[in-house]
Amino acid sequence: MSATAPITQDVMTIKRVLPDGPTNIVGLTRDAMHDALIAAGTPEKQAKMRVNQIWQWIYHWGVRDFAEMTNLSKGFRAKLADTFVIALPEVVTREVSKDGTRKYLVRIAGGHEVEVVYIPETDRGTLCISSQVGCTLTCSFCHTGTQKLVRNLTAGEIIGQVMLARDDLDGWPEKGISTADQAPRLLSNVVLMGMGEPLYNFENVRDAMKIAMDGEGIALSRRRITLSTSGVVPEIARTAQEIGCQLAVSFHATTDEVRDTLVPINKRWNIEALLNVLREYPKVSNSERITFEYVMLKDVNDSDEDARRLVKLIDGIPAKINLIPFNEWPGAPYTRSDKARIEAFAEIVYRAGYASPIRRPRGEDIMAACGQLKSATERERKSRKQIEAETGTGR
Ligand code: SAH
Ligand code: SF4
Repeated sequence: MSATAPITQDVMTIKRVLPDGPTNIVGLTRDAMHDALIAAGTPEKQAKMRVNQIWQWIYHWGVRDFAEMTNLSKGFRAKLADTFVIALPEVVTREVSKDGTRKYLVRIAGGHEVEVVYIPETDRGTLCISSQVGCTLTCSFCHTGTQKLVRNLTAGEIIGQVMLARDDLDGWPEKGISTADQAPRLLSNVVLMGMGEPLYNFENVRDAMKIAMDGEGIALSRRRITLSTSGVVPEIARTAQEIGCQLAVSFHATTDEVRDTLVPINKRWNIEALLNVLREYPKVSNSERITFEYVMLKDVNDSDEDARRLVKLIDGIPAKINLIPFNEWPGAPYTRSDKARIEAFAEIVYRAGYASPIRRPRGEDIMAACGQLKSATERERKSRKQIEAETGTGR
């Protein structure tokens, strides 16, 4: 956690919010909750213990009502209920794919919507969460990139996605049962691979992930959290120091010329600058390896030469290469590489000593694949509108 800046910022927010109405307690860091409790009249000496108690109720037991926090006095519970709310984003729709993938459309303050996807696998259950509504970047193969940034999500809205999925999936621990005897967690991993560039919303993403990793609450190991970035170089070093989670990088090209067009942030920080900071990441964050994401675009970045250049570039970096068959969307300027081409590319990378899994699209029937988020929902709305216009139904 960095020194004092974020705490000051949080206190300022609280001061501004308190006179007008309750503050959402979900998303406050421990320090911010501590300060908020004191601002609300909790004696300083008790504040740390109260934070511990409230923290466990909210993040370990999943309690949503201060009245249920039975180890706090009735008076204090009432005071909390006057001052704070325990609020999560609202689930608008929930779709379940044939393969078990679940997609939630959730609404956040201001009526904006983001999507959250749960992907069950045999050995894990991964939740893909969003960090922004839209994105400031304009990667040419990504549908989110065609949607302007509307706003950053707050830390509460980011951790709230994990909590609402836990509500839907495995519930929260059952009281009176030892940790060892609890049912296995269906939600075991989190990836920041939904909408938005997490490193352009650094503080909120960091605070939310600190909450997710806190051992007294949701308690996900930092090895089970992966942050995906398009390559915001200065923030990558900070991620290693202040979050320490696993890192995935949207690499996608092996020359600056091609990467400039696919991932335009490359014009600001090119491949060399990116690789330099990536070399340091595993040491600083004490993580095993970096995931290089590589979207397979027919005749753009998928040649044998690209594969050979890729392994040369990343030489010396502990890495895994995740090959993502391009997920097409209406109006996309690319097509997906052929299966045989993807396999030949994977083979070259594999022979050079790197794991090179080809990402299997999941939840295709509910349009839950990478880069399709939100677009599907928008498209659905559009077609509904079109139908209404054609048939004269609707209002
Ligand atoms: N902004 C971050 C994280 C969100 S995107 C980033 O760019 O890394 C998550 C992953 O999906 C990224 O690797 C992104 O490049 C990839 N992606 C985006 N659109 C895609 C598409 N249409 N098909 C396949 N992968 C896509
Ligand atoms: Fe934004 Fe990531 Fe999409 Fe690029 S790939 S436009 S950084 S969400």
